[in-house]
Amino acid sequence: MLSSFFHPKAVAVVGASSKPGKVGYDILDNLLKFTYQGEVYPVNPSGGAILDKKVYQSVADLPAGIDLGVIAVKAHLVPQSVRDLAARGVMAQVVVSAGFKEVGGQGRVLERELAQAVADTGVRLIGPNCIGIMDTESGLNATFAADMARQGHIGFFSQSGAMCLAILDWALDNEIGFSKFISLGNKVDITESEVLELLAEDPETRVIMGYLEAVEDGRRFMEVARRVTRHKPVVLVKSGVTTAGAKAASSHTGALAGADAAYSAAFKQCGVLRAKSVRELFNLAQSLANQPLPQGPAMAIVTNSGGPGIICADAVENAGMHLAGLKAETVEELRSFLPPIASFYNPVDLTGGAPAEMYGHSLRTVCQDENVDGVLVIMTPAATVNPLELAKLICQVKTDKPVFAALMGSHSVIQSRIYCMGEGVPAFDFPEEAVQAVRGMLAYHDWVRAKPRQPALNHGDKDKVAGIIANLRSQGRLQMSETEARECFAAYGIPVARSLPAATSAEAAAAAAELGLPVVMKIDSPAVVHKSDVGGVKVGLKTPQEVADAFLEMTSRVQRRYPRAWIRGVLVQEMVKGGRETILGLSQDPQFGPLLMFGLGGIYVEVLKDVSFRVGPLSREDADEMVKGIRSFPLLRGVRGEPPADMAALAEALLALSSLAHDFPMLAEADINPMLALPRGEGVVAVDARISLSPPKGDD
Ligand code: ADP
Ligand code: MG
Repeated sequence: MLSSFFHPKAVAVVGASSKPGKVGYDILDNLLKFTYQGEVYPVNPSGGAILDKKVYQSVADLPAGIDLGVIAVKAHLVPQSVRDLAARGVMAQVVVSAGFKEVGGQGRVLERELAQAVADTGVRLIGPNCIGIMDTESGLNATFAADMARQGHIGFFSQSGAMCLAILDWALDNEIGFSKFISLGNKVDITESEVLELLAEDPETRVIMGYLEAVEDGRRFMEVARRVTRHKPVVLVKSGVTTAGAKAASSHTGALAGADAAYSAAFKQCGVLRAKSVRELFNLAQSLANQPLPQGPAMAIVTNSGGPGIICADAVENAGMHLAGLKAETVEELRSFLPPIASFYNPVDLTGGAPAEMYGHSLRTVCQDENVDGVLVIMTPAATVNPLELAKLICQVKTDKPVFAALMGSHSVIQSRIYCMGEGVPAFDFPEEAVQAVRGMLAYHDWVRAKPRQPALNHGDKDKVAGIIANLRSQGRLQMSETEARECFAAYGIPVARSLPAATSAEAAAAAAELGLPVVMKIDSPAVVHKSDVGGVKVGLKTPQEVADAFLEMTSRVQRRYPRAWIRGVLVQEMVKGGRETILGLSQDPQFGPLLMFGLGGIYVEVLKDVSFRVGPLSREDADEMVKGIRSFPLLRGVRGEPPADMAALAEALLALSSLAHDFPMLAEADINPMLALPRGEGVVAVDARISLSPPKGDD
């Protein structure tokens, strides 16, 4: 069905116009003036002819056999046009008209009407508020863009039409070709998930590239992307990263951009390469579309100057790759034809006087070395080397390894860079960008090689947790007490500090005796969220007398602070020694669902923001990566003779939390702060627990 969009037998343009510069004219013109071979039917109530084509006065007059309809009428007429085309059997439609949810108010109402028309008729629809679609193979240009994309192997989609136009324009000047070009607009029907599936099946598309502001259905997107990325790379820019950006995105297309942490995690978990900028998006897509994947991280550099060679070498190291150690034969071969002042080791420095053919020879030699996984060629403008000749030589090298060119400068090398791009060799103005591209390719190589991950779900005591939740629901509460939260965590196998409630000082002393001194005392009141802030935590109580005194002091202090608060009493808790403070958390992302968090805990967690995220349910590998993924991971590994923390137990606790969240989707938020991580082999202990529920939704 979706293929009717790109290889239609005939296209109707509803809202065709006779005035150049109007969308309804430009689309018709674009359909007629490129190589599209099918029939094109303009529709406009005023009839007559446009661009020598007879204009049909209504959709009902159109002949049968049209499979694609492009709608460019005013927004309020769009829903009826969709129905009319459907009645004529046109089941693939593109709506370029704007004036829907992106303008708010009445536009939202119209968008709902449009969605209803789609639902009633079963048509498949791209848009509204988009610039249309192109297929470079069939020559179809059903857009109002000023030009046609060049043929190539990048399948591109974009939520923003303006980005489409800018990218097309830029790509034309840089010899970048596309297989399909899809402007998604408001995604009333067809979303990025369908487009991923479509492009995955398209033999002309080698890499899928997209610009997104928000994902429509996060879970479905992840499911589709995880499948597609196994055999085709997907590179995306997701805008709306900063808070300001997120606001711009929502006023732009009216989409509610999800939290960025969730996007980053979700993309990582389904093998989507995330580019931070449009330039990186292109660099990576162009590399993936035309170059073989590097089989490992060993890079060779061929340069005609020392400084850029070193910059490039640094970039390689910083990106987590390394310089290949060249084999003795390679070094000997290089020595045989390079000038004596050259450097025959990696980076291979031909020095300033090197002519183009010396580059070619060096490049071929280095590519043959089996220690090398990829080659970066750097050229700085020099009188002896003709940049265009060099570009041709680079493009002629036959190798199964990826080759990247950094032709530095602008004025004298721009033509050579464009030449390389046209021949499929990614060419950049600075070596760092080349390194970034190869790094992305390597990440994709690793993803394809890695075994698909499976969620690791534990069986917890579901009945126990369900009972606690039912009790909260019956009392109309959303917030669990610490004791209830602790019981939920314990039911899923998370080790929790032993605690006993005490309502009097005598009970507190007795509890301390039972747990064993020293103990910790914490205020137990629904009114107190951050206990330490109000003097509601005392650690290291060593004697029954200290415990009894602490009870009176703590309860009266909190009562003074919150005169109306109900104070249940205190919790007396075993004192855990020698643990590093970490935090485990759960929140619900509107697009992707349960989002799990790990980080260094304690009171500075909000300031340091040293946390890692993954979308649940977690696989074992995800949990391990979360623990290792924080910046201060070295602190967990142990510094200055400290023993390492029990990282396996931390990962295990994350899996337990993920399983709890999976079984109980009504958990809105959960926090274990701190989770004390003891030295390796001694496990972890949750000493503070918090869980809140989402408001009841029908059946929970
Ligand atoms: P809150 O976060 O409400 O202030 P916590 O229960 O997290 O209260 O306690 C505050 C701090 O006290 C913790 O971050 C930890 O450093 C310390 N602490 C709390 N309970 C224990 C315990 N059982 N053993 C050791 N230290 C504890
Ligand atoms: Mg705490």
